[in-house]
Amino acid sequence: MSESDAFRVFDIQRFSIYDGPGIRTTVFLAGCALRCGWCQNPEAFRGEHATVLRPDAVMAEVLKDLDYYTVSGGGLTVSGGEPLLHIAPVQALLTAAKRHGLHTCVQTSGAVSQAHLAAVLDLVDLFQFDLKHMNSARHKQLTGAGTERIHGNARFLRDQGATVQFRMPLLPGINDDAENLERTADFLLGHGAADLRLVPYHRLYVDKYAALDLTPGLPALVPPTAQDLQRATERLAARGLAVAVDG
Ligand code: SF4
Repeated sequence: MSESDAFRVFDIQRFSIYDGPGIRTTVFLAGCALRCGWCQNPEAFRGEHATVLRPDAVMAEVLKDLDYYTVSGGGLTVSGGEPLLHIAPVQALLTAAKRHGLHTCVQTSGAVSQAHLAAVLDLVDLFQFDLKHMNSARHKQLTGAGTERIHGNARFLRDQGATVQFRMPLLPGINDDAENLERTADFLLGHGAADLRLVPYHRLYVDKYAALDLTPGLPALVPPTAQDLQRATERLAARGLAVAVDG
């Protein structure tokens, strides 16, 4: 099996309710161009912890819950890692999902070639797109890459009329200062987006790092308090964004 007709899957989560509307199956693909210090899926970096599968094998698993998608308006979510890195098998999976009438969602960091986004544009009902930090130099320090390509891709999706839900991991002391929150709100509003989902950082994943013999990039990072969340929500809302909090 070659890279072009298969992908490396490190998890398939059935009955997921946070990865798009309704009840969904979320497929997690290995590989990511970024190295965020708070990454909750370090398996994405270690290909040996993934299974090489063809899209039809993944689709057979996804279709087990077809009845649940039908009654709940759910479907398939493709996540990672960065799922759009290896585009051909993802395109094949999304095409199969649409053939079965499923709602499709792709969770992306935006750190991919614009051609890969264009290749799935007509196959994706919802992009969940992460914004991590607005300052490019700081973004590079935190993730290994600046913001230029990511912001360009956010603009591209909006210009193409794609349905995009922007999300931001809320990381105390990292990206929840007033300047970054206001720049995030202004960036979104300037691109016609009216809302943002905040995803509070949590530490439930740290055992995974130990099991994989990896060290988290920001070991001292702590989850936001209720006050941190409220402060961030109010700051974004004062700028004119509708804010929802995940979890
Ligand atoms: S973009 Fe997502 S998967 Fe990739 S390193 Fe960052 S948090 Fe992890």
